[in-house]
Amino acid sequence: MFECPSCNKKTISKSSKFWIGPIRSITCKNCNAKVSVPYSSLFLLTLYLALMLIIPKMRMNLIAILVMIVVIFVAYIYLNYKYVPLEVKLRKNENGYKKQKIKNVIMATCYFTLSFTFIFLLT
Ligand SMILES: [Zn+2]
Repeated sequence: MFECPSCNKKTISKSSKFWIGPIRSITCKNCNAKVSVPYSSLFLLTLYLALMLIIPKMRMNLIAILVMIVVIFVAYIYLNYKYVPLEVKLRKNENGYKKQKIKNVIMATCYFTLSFTFIFLLT
């Protein structure tokens, strides 16, 4: 279980942390705060997905490919649990909502610009 960033009680289960993204949030059962992850977590997810697309195209035998896919999947879960922080998603009437919203829009724009540039350079 993970601590809720708002009330510091262990209310966030491992499986629910795996499925939350910057857009998808969950509600803490104890304090009712909306809990999410920062946009920077998308970089880790993208790296993971990119590797998952590249590995099957490499010229290796099937077993080596399967082993690498499992290793990277486990590494992704480990990094996600260990390094992706949980954050409280503020509601409209709460202090700092606008500031968080602006930060998120900037992060999302950076992310999409970077990933499109990367795709453009690869093709
Ligand atoms: Zn809470």
